[in-house]
Amino acid sequence: MAKQKKYIYSFGGGKAQGKASMRALLGGKGAGLHEMTRVGIPVPPGFTLTTDVCTYFYARQLHYPKGLEGEVIEALHQVEKILGRRFGDRANPLLVSVRSGARESMPGMMDTILNLGLNNQTVQGLIARTQNPRFAYDCYRRFVQMYGDVVLGLKPTEKHERDPFEVILERKKESRRARFDTDLTADDLKDLVAAFKAEIKAKLGKDFPEDPYKQLWGAIGAVFGSWNNERAIEYRRINRIPDDWGTAVNVQAMVFGNLGNDCATGVAFTRDPATGEKCFYGEFLVNAQGEDVVAGIRTPGPIAELKGVMPEAYRELKRACKMLERHYKDMQDIEFTIEKRKLWLLQTRNGKRTGFAAVRIALDMVEERLISKEQALLQVEPEQLNQLLRPIFDHADKERAAKAGRILARGLPAGPGAATGRIVFHAEDADEWKKRGEQVVLCRIETSPDDIRGMAAAEAILTARGGMTSHAALVARQMGKVCVVGCEALQIDYSLREMRVNEIRLKEGDWISVDGSTGDVIQGEIRTLPSEVLQVLIDGTLDGKGSRVYQRFVKLMRWADATRKIGVRTNADQPDQAQISLAFGAEGIGLCRTEHMFFEEERILAVREMILAEDQAGRRQALAKLLPMQKKDFKGILDIMGNLPVTIRTLDPPLHEFLPKTEEEIVELAETMKVPAAKLKSKVELLHEFNPMLGHRGCRLGISYPEITEMQAKAIFEAACELRREGKNPFPEVMIPLVGTRQELHLQREIVEHAAHEVMKAYGVRVRYLVGTMIELPRACLVADEIAREAEFFSFGTNDLTQTCLGLSRDDAGKFLPSYVSQKIFPDDPFVSLDRDGVGSLMRIGLEKGRRVRKELEIGICGEHGGDPRSVALCHEIGLDYVSCSPYRVPVAKLAAAQAALRKKTYGFSRT
Ligand code: ADP
Ligand code: MG
Ligand code: MG
Repeated sequence: MAKQKKYIYSFGGGKAQGKASMRALLGGKGAGLHEMTRVGIPVPPGFTLTTDVCTYFYARQLHYPKGLEGEVIEALHQVEKILGRRFGDRANPLLVSVRSGARESMPGMMDTILNLGLNNQTVQGLIARTQNPRFAYDCYRRFVQMYGDVVLGLKPTEKHERDPFEVILERKKESRRARFDTDLTADDLKDLVAAFKAEIKAKLGKDFPEDPYKQLWGAIGAVFGSWNNERAIEYRRINRIPDDWGTAVNVQAMVFGNLGNDCATGVAFTRDPATGEKCFYGEFLVNAQGEDVVAGIRTPGPIAELKGVMPEAYRELKRACKMLERHYKDMQDIEFTIEKRKLWLLQTRNGKRTGFAAVRIALDMVEERLISKEQALLQVEPEQLNQLLRPIFDHADKERAAKAGRILARGLPAGPGAATGRIVFHAEDADEWKKRGEQVVLCRIETSPDDIRGMAAAEAILTARGGMTSHAALVARQMGKVCVVGCEALQIDYSLREMRVNEIRLKEGDWISVDGSTGDVIQGEIRTLPSEVLQVLIDGTLDGKGSRVYQRFVKLMRWADATRKIGVRTNADQPDQAQISLAFGAEGIGLCRTEHMFFEEERILAVREMILAEDQAGRRQALAKLLPMQKKDFKGILDIMGNLPVTIRTLDPPLHEFLPKTEEEIVELAETMKVPAAKLKSKVELLHEFNPMLGHRGCRLGISYPEITEMQAKAIFEAACELRREGKNPFPEVMIPLVGTRQELHLQREIVEHAAHEVMKAYGVRVRYLVGTMIELPRACLVADEIAREAEFFSFGTNDLTQTCLGLSRDDAGKFLPSYVSQKIFPDDPFVSLDRDGVGSLMRIGLEKGRRVRKELEIGICGEHGGDPRSVALCHEIGLDYVSCSPYRVPVAKLAAAQAALRKKTYGFSRT
């Protein structure tokens, strides 16, 4: 017969059956308890029911494995032996806590049950042992309350409902004229126990279980059951924790921090989790139990004060903390209890920290020779670097606002950072107000490409609709703007120039604050502090030597640069964006869109003339006006980028995007252009497409109107040649969008090459350049070998490639995509994180076929995915040369790329 699976692991008395590496089986909390016991730290004895029990429980209609009951009793006997107390004994009872603990900590999954094992008999034993009836009845009434709330399910689920036990407690306090719980006597508490039990009987029609073993199994069942409660499921979804991991259950002997003034309970961090400073950090309460510290009933004191109250326990705690940090090689978050001056540790885990703290701790630990540079790079979450770049709210000021009920709503945190300003509802207003010196927040139902200037003028962008990859979010990230999108609670009325959130009305000009890191929308002004890194790198208002934050940032980036294998470029359309990307150390521009430049005032007219022209001659005339303007743009960007590559994409969007839509606008434009309104209107109608995404756009425009491509190529090469003449060494890469066949690229390429030769001949100089294509159609991936014969580089346009591969319109998917993700049809929003199996496979095919024909083919990615850490890892795996992302995401991409390189090395595969 096969050996029976081991379902229970014991710890206590200096020995443990488990250890740190058994997280998957014992859960994070369990593994920590076993490991601490193993290395000689005082931990109350207990045992862990493994996650396998949980898996079994769900696979077999909520039944436990055979023999589990006997094993639990056996393990409990072990604890009894160590402590010399018996579970359910009326003379000297053993009490336990029942604690949940998944592989990753999941706050809010299930509350811990303390003091389990108490009943009307055992409470007498507790009184006898402690000589403290008040304490014993306090434990008892807490236990009945917790058990009733958590195991029997009486805890209210709605915000406005009250906990039935709290109501009874409140009434008792009133009748006894007691201000605090501590003013109640032993008899009062004894009455409460009876009243709580009566409440349970009344509400549920069954008795509170007096039998300690019944209590224990009830609590164990509740922990396993809580794995599938709504909060837990939601938390797993957000944090990408697999449903089949399951939770472990820890049963552990109670120690008491509430036995008198020589007792305490608290939490400690081995470093400051907000700043990362190496100091002993934490809080404690004298004469208190477990949850009291978090519950906020009494205000805890700073850990340093423990030194004066219980010096010995304090020294021991410090020693244990130091030891645990060295042992785990990471900052620890520790829970402890002191019973009669004796210290017990109840939990240790890697502490959560801000981005600032993460960077500082990682670097400090390298300096202290605790970890290697590689480990330091792996310790910081790439996304956390954003915090170092964004202005931040003054924490105290935001707290005050929260207390005053000024947090109005929460949307999706699309662009991290803090901003405050006056409300405007239109892009033009944002622009105008800004020129007057006002600080504004642009509030829109949604944004469109012609809002770009207004968006640039605003401190923050707030939209009522749209997801993390909506237009507003995309542009905001590229600009480095604070942005909250999809804030459905906002009811915006453009005509009244106001918006409502529930009952609150906000008018144009009112102050509002937006927290792009959390999604919070706050009424009124909140003080902000600027990011030091940007002050040094971009604004030049701070000397790098004077900023520790900046120095740490730069150091980490240097290490990342030395480690990563994949290049990092940036998406930038304008010289100022190019400047920023350089400041962050981007290695070129991976996507410069030419059409954003068309929206500027003098240009849009020329663009429209071009579109409305009767024939090629007319178009050429309008294009001739555009040429010098485009040339100026290109020259600006090429100049700033020096000899780094700049990938410039020829015109991509369908032409109707440049024409007005409403009747009114058409009439107005007709007047300006001195053309009959009817003619303009019919042109607008003619350009209407049922599905513009798959319509007349990309290289299809250049095929129909070769003169457009020709003008753009000329502008690019004239700009480059002028720079060359000035002794510079620009490096344009001309990129043709939406190619699906070799012939398309061939035709467009001939135009570009022809322009290049003509211009270079005229200027009498030579410039380096490449001609290549965006790969954004499945067909292009499948015939990449053919296309590579015409292309010197590929750039995966993964926004369109995702749309066309999945047959999913990004702009229409918002309605059902969230449900697709929650039902696990997609593991992620495929527009945020590359679809590994589908789009990823197409990319692999494209890369392999392309390189087979042209070994030196340069291959990158320029979709929004280029700044997403998981997508960066995939690009590294596939073997791309570079990723390109918005300027402010360059640091994130660099760190993600370094981690991908390290993980591949360490594990032989990429863990994403
Ligand atoms: P959470 O996951 O919410 O932190 P825990 O299982 O860590 O839940 O329990 C919360 C608190 O309850 C602990 O920090 C500790 O103060 C108290 N507690 C849990 N088990 C015991 C125990 N055996 N003895 C004393 N206090 C305990
Ligand atoms: Mg805990
Ligand atoms: Mg595209």
